[in-house]
Amino acid sequence: MKFDEYKISPEVKRSLEEQGFKKPTDIQYRAIPNILNGEDVLAIAQTGTGKTAAFAIPILHLMTLARNEKGVKVVVMVPTHELAIQITEVFHELGKYTKVKTLGIFGGVDQAPQIKQLKHGVDIVIATPGRLFDLVSQGHLVLSNIQILVLDEADLMLDLGFYKDIRDLLRFLPRFRQTLFFSATINEKIKKMAYSIVRNPIRIQISPKDPVSKNVTHSVMSVNMDDKRYFLERLVKENQDSKILVFVRTKVRAERVFQAMERVGITSLTMHSGKEQQDRLAVMNDFKSGAFKILIATDVSSRGVDIPNVDYVVNYDLPDIAENYVHRVGRTGRGTNKGIAVSFCAPEERLLLEQIEGFMDKKVNVFEIGKSEYADTLASTEEVNTNWKQLIREAESEAAKRKKKNKK
Ligand code: ADP
Ligand code: MG
Repeated sequence: MKFDEYKISPEVKRSLEEQGFKKPTDIQYRAIPNILNGEDVLAIAQTGTGKTAAFAIPILHLMTLARNEKGVKVVVMVPTHELAIQITEVFHELGKYTKVKTLGIFGGVDQAPQIKQLKHGVDIVIATPGRLFDLVSQGHLVLSNIQILVLDEADLMLDLGFYKDIRDLLRFLPRFRQTLFFSATINEKIKKMAYSIVRNPIRIQISPKDPVSKNVTHSVMSVNMDDKRYFLERLVKENQDSKILVFVRTKVRAERVFQAMERVGITSLTMHSGKEQQDRLAVMNDFKSGAFKILIATDVSSRGVDIPNVDYVVNYDLPDIAENYVHRVGRTGRGTNKGIAVSFCAPEERLLLEQIEGFMDKKVNVFEIGKSEYADTLASTEEVNTNWKQLIREAESEAAKRKKKNKK
């Protein structure tokens, strides 16, 4: 079935056509009719399979019908600012020929423009919990007319940290509403919580067997902790034109890897929670546009973010939380694109790898590196500081300089 044949507003069809979306993806095919019917939906589908449009298309259509009803009618909750911005963009793009107004509400930026827009009338808000509650408590945002609640990245939104926010949110919402959950991963505990919030939901699960999208080829190679930077250097240098997203465990490590790459002439960007919101936005834009091809990030950007044409995902460090593996490698191979993911597993990370494999119920392919190839990779580095003799020489000359200075 093509989008032309759907009973949705011609304005939405026009932008779908402009986007080049001809036919729905599996999750869109399954979810759109139920959402149009007013049903609650619990949808699990792999990363990069078009979950955003699966709720945006029917919601925009329903909102074209509800234009005369006052107030904010839809709230989409998301875990990060980046995701709020991205999903707002999707609603703007798909809704651009409609009169439906969508606003992103997230912290880290001035709230005045958001308040101003709310005053002018908004139908749909895409929000992170913090700023949403600020605006509700200040009386700028009223949630009593909400008809549809969406939790994107639902498992994360219902997990520790956000669960209380969602519970609090529910107190402000009308009891009779439509509730939609979308995610790529979900566990039993979260599923129970999800069921406590919905009414007779339609459950849609696409390819539950393998949570990693079929468009992603992923493998793991054994690399010692201290050698990881040489393997990254080699991968970057052998794939000069590729867009590469590198995941590390902590923000400190992100900056360290950034510096290690700089020492060998590789420019990159970093993205982590230690950065100011403005910088985070600039980084995402530079990486999205392709102005910079290497981004070194912590898990903050592994959820939901849709960056065009990421060729490689590198798990420089394995994630501590097994499901984050799926979200990280899912940043490549999006839509109809193919992608490659590779994980550097040090001996001390074996246990994490086992947990990841346990979570996926599947082994990760092993990419064997021969002894000589491993040695070649270390030898091929352009890092000058690896030579300890040189390090000592540098230290000695520094000391000599200081002595001279002190004498003066
Ligand atoms: P998910 O939320 O499932 O991880 P997204 O909603 O971010 O995935 O979509 C992934 C990519 O697929 C986006 O770049 C989007 O533009 C593209 N896409 C979505 N729906 C379609 C479609 N019907 N046809 C072609 N591409 C699509
Ligand atoms: Mg998504």
